[in-house]
Amino acid sequence: MDKTDVRYIKGVGPGNAFLLEKIGIRTVEDMFAYLPFRMEDRRNYISARELTAVLPSDESFFVAGTVKKITGGKSPRRRARIVEITLEDKAGTGNIRLLAFQNRVKYILAVIEIGQEIAVYGKVELLAEGLTMSNFDFEVLKAGQKSLSFFRRVPVYRLTKGISIKRFRRWMWNALEKYSQSVEEFIPADIRKRLALPPRPAAFRNAHFPETPRALSEAYRRIKFEEFFIFECAVAYNRAQIKKTRKELTYKLKKNLLTPWKDSLPFDFTSGQKTAINDIFRDMLSPFPMNRLIQGDVGSGKTVVAASSAVLAKENGYQTAILAPTLPLAEQHFKTLSSLFSAGRVKTLLLTGGMKKEDRRLALEEISSGKADVVIGTHALFQEHVKFKKLSLVIIDEQQRFGVHQKAALSAKGSSPDILVLTATPIPRALSLALFGDLDRSEIRVLPPGRKKVETIQGSSQEAYDLISKQIDKGFQAFVVYPCIEEAQDEHSAKAAYKYLSDEVFPDYRVTLLHGRMTPAAKSAAMEKFSDGKTDILVSTTVIEVGVDIPRATFMLIENAQMYGLSTLHQLRGRIGRGGEKSCCFVTVAGADSLALERISCFLKSSDGFELAEKDLELRGAGQYFGAAQHGMMDISFNYNKALEEKFPDLSDIAVLNTAREEAFPLLEKDPALRNNRALKTRLMARFSEGFNLAKVS
Ligand code: ADP
Ligand code: MG
Repeated sequence: MDKTDVRYIKGVGPGNAFLLEKIGIRTVEDMFAYLPFRMEDRRNYISARELTAVLPSDESFFVAGTVKKITGGKSPRRRARIVEITLEDKAGTGNIRLLAFQNRVKYILAVIEIGQEIAVYGKVELLAEGLTMSNFDFEVLKAGQKSLSFFRRVPVYRLTKGISIKRFRRWMWNALEKYSQSVEEFIPADIRKRLALPPRPAAFRNAHFPETPRALSEAYRRIKFEEFFIFECAVAYNRAQIKKTRKELTYKLKKNLLTPWKDSLPFDFTSGQKTAINDIFRDMLSPFPMNRLIQGDVGSGKTVVAASSAVLAKENGYQTAILAPTLPLAEQHFKTLSSLFSAGRVKTLLLTGGMKKEDRRLALEEISSGKADVVIGTHALFQEHVKFKKLSLVIIDEQQRFGVHQKAALSAKGSSPDILVLTATPIPRALSLALFGDLDRSEIRVLPPGRKKVETIQGSSQEAYDLISKQIDKGFQAFVVYPCIEEAQDEHSAKAAYKYLSDEVFPDYRVTLLHGRMTPAAKSAAMEKFSDGKTDILVSTTVIEVGVDIPRATFMLIENAQMYGLSTLHQLRGRIGRGGEKSCCFVTVAGADSLALERISCFLKSSDGFELAEKDLELRGAGQYFGAAQHGMMDISFNYNKALEEKFPDLSDIAVLNTAREEAFPLLEKDPALRNNRALKTRLMARFSEGFNLAKVS
């Protein structure tokens, strides 16, 4: 790895290094990884005559020519400073006027002189005065000096204030000239050969200053593969580690708690639950740590499955930690489990960030003394001062919020504890193996008996309001969900909706607001009001997305459903119909494009989470699928700037991801400690240690 500080790149220095750090560039390698978000084709210039023929156009053009005349600027009339440059094009087919204003005038006058050859790039207008460019990028061409901004494909970067793109390009060029040969290759030669991947130095050079379009796409192919490959190596490495560790806390099946507990349940397990419990118990009783993912649609009964494993842990005198992605969910788990365990001797405890000091101290004491058997919490459970006496089982609810790294951090709390991950997000088959190759999987595909299907319909808000009133009059409750793109907007739109609904539409009902920017305490208060039946309508954003269980809620209105992915819609819909009552999910749609319309039509037709997930992936493509629906599911590619993500054709990513897996797993099997692949190991460990930094996690 080339960890050389950027300040040593020619032209950078300490002052600019400080600016570069603002965009995350510290080392030469960071610099190389800072890929352009766009390439501008400035290979060939266009003549004045050709320009006249193609205008009007919204595109930018490259024009080269000789400066014939410079007017204005020096003696500004009043305060409007303006300079006009007349450029005769290289082919001699006509003139182009360049206009510069205000702050730019001084600089232009200082740099441009009559008789110079200059290259310009920008939008062109055909005015009465002739061809005119009033916003342009330019360079004075000097014989013998290679231009970085013209006569080539030119990289465009997202930069920060204080760094001009021309200088940045120069620094990049200098860095590549001096250091690209020394970047370390870490993909084994046989893999590179098999996949015909360009060498790393060439890939970086061509990613910034491509010699040919093909070289550019090959460079990207290599860089993308590299990222996926490291990810898959981490997954494979994880797997190999688990398979060779023996756990310290081992189990016996005593059944002295399990049997009475099971008998106390008001129902029998479904076949899917039985299989899952068998899988889990087999793992727990084995000498190697469990690392299992339970996939089951909303309402499939994952909680009791998880509870069974906690009872087995208790039976052996061990503790269980349950991690929920949000506070309301942690609270709900606490409630559900406390009542599930009320018959047995399992002591549950809720640990949250917002606890009073004294309560917290007591809770921590119960955890460290081993009095608490099952500890439920959010990320707060990760914190260093939380010490368990005998933690043997970690249950993570909703996988998509926890990546490989967090799991590793948690494992560090116990001595190689068993890990059980629950998710209601069905991962499309095409991705499942690649993303969760380090986990064993059990699926629960049947729902408990007596579950009524949620009817899903589309209509107007007004129609929905009428239906909501009817439901509330019958003693039921309703969700109204508003879309959000960013948290700020999210807060805004939910607040506005809340005001409108409570003042104008439902003045006679009790309406409560819940959004992501509320304090944790306010959030859980709102949630509690709703689950205790003290409010009729919960107006919210997607914070209710996962897991919340309100049996009296029979109606959900999702406004602007076109803004969500199918997986999110499906998750939302799973919040209702949990009490055996007939329930309705109502969507309104506005301004949807054809893809969105197709999503909605699938959503109306199907209630199978797996089917919808596959469709979501197909319609949205992997990039968006990860970005929006599966937020944070995968800690991949974050080394490269976001713009890069936009560049790659989405679906082919899955193919690359799978190729990476197919290469990584056999490699790690052959060389589990990566003894013969030092460079790869170094890189892998560097990525892992970044992941261990918990500050980055939440
Ligand atoms: P999930 O977490 O998978 O979405 P839950 O565990 O919350 O689902 O279960 C949903 C509801 O179904 C709960 O009220 C639970 O008590 C109930 N339930 C779970 N298993 C069964 C079963 N085998 N038979 C009947 N009801 C069940
Ligand atoms: Mg659940």
